[in-house]
Amino acid sequence: MSKRVYNFCAGPCTLPLDVLEEAQAEFVDYQGSGMSLIEMSHRGKHYDEVHMEAMALMKEVYRVPEDFSVLFIQGGAHLQFAMVPMNLLTPGTRGAYTNTGTWGKGAITDGKACGDVYVAWDGADENFTRMPNADEIELQDNTRYLHITSNETIGGIRFPAFPDVSVPLVVDMSSDYMSRTVPWEKFDLVYGGLQKNLGPAGMSVVFVRDSILENTNKDMARYLRYDIHKDKDSMFNTPAVFPTYMTGKVLKWMKAKGGLDVIEAEAAQKSGLIYAAIDNSDGYYRSPVDVACRSHMNVVFRLPSEELEKKFLTEADQADLLNLKGHRSVGGLRASIYNAMPQEGAQALADFMADFMRSNG
Ligand SMILES: *Cc1c(COP(=O)(O)O)cnc(C)c1O
Repeated sequence: MSKRVYNFCAGPCTLPLDVLEEAQAEFVDYQGSGMSLIEMSHRGKHYDEVHMEAMALMKEVYRVPEDFSVLFIQGGAHLQFAMVPMNLLTPGTRGAYTNTGTWGKGAITDGKACGDVYVAWDGADENFTRMPNADEIELQDNTRYLHITSNETIGGIRFPAFPDVSVPLVVDMSSDYMSRTVPWEKFDLVYGGLQKNLGPAGMSVVFVRDSILENTNKDMARYLRYDIHKDKDSMFNTPAVFPTYMTGKVLKWMKAKGGLDVIEAEAAQKSGLIYAAIDNSDGYYRSPVDVACRSHMNVVFRLPSEELEKKFLTEADQADLLNLKGHRSVGGLRASIYNAMPQEGAQALADFMADFMRSNG
């Protein structure tokens, strides 16, 4: 087989090798049909099976309660920044948002363009180094939901627990989707793009509490309505056939691994290896974020100087540890260790960090 590197990219990101190879093996001739799955009608038997199975696995693997539906919607998480307020904010209601970093801010920007939304907590003064506690979130009258970003992919912080507030939560889970157990009873809606923990880029997965769909705005273009996607089993129009197919395979891979509990424990362990390399470095490596809010998916760290950071990146590349550069908006380094990153990858990075410090301390 050809070379396989450890890819720490923040998204799109590494996927399970088994899944890639399986897809390769059946790409040209899908189950003896003489054609590829991506050449078939989405209304045919083969794709229908793939589609319905992926939806069922979504609910099974994430232990989603009966009274939620799963929706596959193209346009990525950004379209959800708009669809959430468009659907949920009926006249006289408002959306509360936490500004916790780049993605929280993105949801606020688009939320403001689509409805009456306000900022209920702002982490800007503290440079987005932590998430708020529930009692710091200031909710106003007529608030329909509180929107939070469960994991800030660029800043490297996560909500250690989902806040207890008096209104339902709407959660952008793009970068820690299906990597932790979650309290469904607190949620009205959860969304995230595929391309961090679930599959290739190309759509979002939305979980929505069925009962709220009676009360959403209906006077909109049909593709923008959650109730229509639900009524049509996410086949209102041509679905994202290939991403759905790949995601079904990733979900089976997750199930075979032992499911959510195993994945959650592995995430703590893998990120723990890298945080330990930081904490045991006597300040050579620095994590800029609050310890209690450290992300288990995106480990952000700095070196003593920008020159050393550059050197670190060059030598890491040579060691086949790829895409460790921090986001251009914050600099530094970032290791994204999503579900498909093997434990050996996290260990290899931790070892590399120790070696690099010894040679460049
Ligand atoms: C990547 C990301 C997004 C943007 O996702 P797109 O699918 O590219 O629109 C939004 N929120 C979070 C938390 C992300 O990590």
